[in-house]
Amino acid sequence: MEKLYEGKAKEVFKTDVDNEVIIRYKDDATAGNGEKKDVFEGKGPLNLAITTLVFEKLKKEGIPTHFIKTLNERDMLVKKVVILPLEVIVRNISAGSFAKRYGVEEGIVFHKPIFEISYKNDDLGDPLMCEDHAIALGFITKEEYDYIKNMTLKINKLLQKIFLEIRLKLVDFKIEFGKDREGNILLADEISPDTCRLWDVETNKKFDKDIFRRDLGNLIEGYGEVLDRLRG
Ligand code: UDP
Repeated sequence: MEKLYEGKAKEVFKTDVDNEVIIRYKDDATAGNGEKKDVFEGKGPLNLAITTLVFEKLKKEGIPTHFIKTLNERDMLVKKVVILPLEVIVRNISAGSFAKRYGVEEGIVFHKPIFEISYKNDDLGDPLMCEDHAIALGFITKEEYDYIKNMTLKINKLLQKIFLEIRLKLVDFKIEFGKDREGNILLADEISPDTCRLWDVETNKKFDKDIFRRDLGNLIEGYGEVLDRLRG
């Protein structure tokens, strides 16, 4: 298969169909903008299985995604999109860069979810952005910004419900959107413990990439438990 792109955790391959590509999930983990690196055997298949279950649930609820089907334990077939250069983040509880930026503790429950975008650019360290900046730079129109914000807050509600059902609090998450040939904006990329913070409802134990970022224990066991709980 011809490789079109290789990122930190995934590779993208061409298919025979013009409008479809394959995303392969790797076992590599990075944190701190690539400063901390490791490989965890089995992480790719866990993230793919979790993303598959989550995308299927979101699709059923009417969220437009690039997901077509999962082909094997590492590969997902998706609709080809051009990824917007934005990291779209929602925060329900303070953690990570928010807690650091404002010098506050982690675990503050927000009265309403925080919607945030940053410029997806590793060289610049993914700087925080505001609506006007994204529009001024031509990344999106005002209408697209409003659409993405509405869609993201809807996704947040659905994800909170999905995770609460398996006794996990959705602290925050990052998603990405892409544009297809027809100009539709679709939820793309992945939704996994690499991209969401998930804390146990009773104990606040972490089941996400903070296990790796902060050396809190066995990442594969943590991600494996998320998948087991989702499978019921
Ligand atoms: N996140 C991500 N990729 C990034 C940056 C953040 O998936 O490049 C996720 C992260 O896992 C968390 C949420 O987005 O669930 C908010 O991350 P934050 O801004 O707190 O940054 P971090 O603490 O990860 O540096």
